[in-house]
Amino acid sequence: MTLSGGGGGLKDVKWGVVNNGLDFLESSVHHLAISDNRSLKYAALHLFASMETLVKARLAREHWTLVVADANVPTRAAFRSGDFKSISLGQALQRLASVADVTIDSKTVGRIKDVEKLRNRAAHFSLSGETPERVKVVVARGLDFTLHFIEKELRPEAPTGEARLIDETLERVRDAIGRIQVLVEERMKSLQANLAAYSIVLDCPACRQGSLVLPSGQAARCLYCLYNPDGEVCAEEYSASILEIFRHSPTLEGVDWPIYSCLNCGAEAFVNHIYTASQEEVGWACFACGYYASTTEIEICSGCGSPTDATRGGVPLCGDCAAAKFERF
Ligand SMILES: [Zn+2]
Ligand SMILES: [Zn+2]
Ligand SMILES: [Zn+2]
Repeated sequence: MTLSGGGGGLKDVKWGVVNNGLDFLESSVHHLAISDNRSLKYAALHLFASMETLVKARLAREHWTLVVADANVPTRAAFRSGDFKSISLGQALQRLASVADVTIDSKTVGRIKDVEKLRNRAAHFSLSGETPERVKVVVARGLDFTLHFIEKELRPEAPTGEARLIDETLERVRDAIGRIQVLVEERMKSLQANLAAYSIVLDCPACRQGSLVLPSGQAARCLYCLYNPDGEVCAEEYSASILEIFRHSPTLEGVDWPIYSCLNCGAEAFVNHIYTASQEEVGWACFACGYYASTTEIEICSGCGSPTDATRGGVPLCGDCAAAKFERF
């Protein structure tokens, strides 16, 4: 961390942190423009570092102890030298919401989490298995958030030197970020004719573009980022990223787990509460075989709790349960 000025006051620390965050931002934009595999890794790593640093710098404006993770608050000297354990980005956003009324909508939080996941993979594993298209769109959205955050939360009330640095950096990166957004839009536009060939297009859990298609008899795949995992994996990712329902979530109470085995193919990839990318209700869809059905066509079997389209005597009963019943008599 570089500290400017010789005074060493806390103002200087914040200035040093903002300086660093802007430097990471510029580096991320620079690496994204190069776009080879190695550069995309640094685009993700540096974007996350930038978001983390700038959000914490904003929080430290409220009070410097707010960015400290330990219950034992460090001395000012330790804080100034960066010698303390800091909170996570998620915690920083939560604290900003409670102490400074800076709220971030859930869609944006999802996009920030995407960058964090990418950063974790880039830092600890590699980005192999990630398509460049996905990395680019996730980073582009993260840059967009960071730009808005700087303009709305950091630039106002910034001390003169810091404000000048912000203005200079934004002037250098704004065009490049704009060009990246245009590339994303152009790629999306070029897919429209292909997307129109599918009756259902969903939001992709990997890149969040409205470009996940369900080809009949095949696993779901994204025409934008080329995400094409096993149907069961895709169903789980869709549930977590788009429906925001996690298998091991403590908040699952009161929320029905949305994934069942498919009536058509038997895979654990038949998902309830599906909406198209343009927010029209679909009902149920299978990410393994592309089968879909409206909510009125599907009921939950009274025998085993799995979805079924069959009723016997007015009671929903799946084929297996009906057969078992028949055997008993
Ligand atoms: Zn995608
Ligand atoms: Zn299926
Ligand atoms: Zn049953």
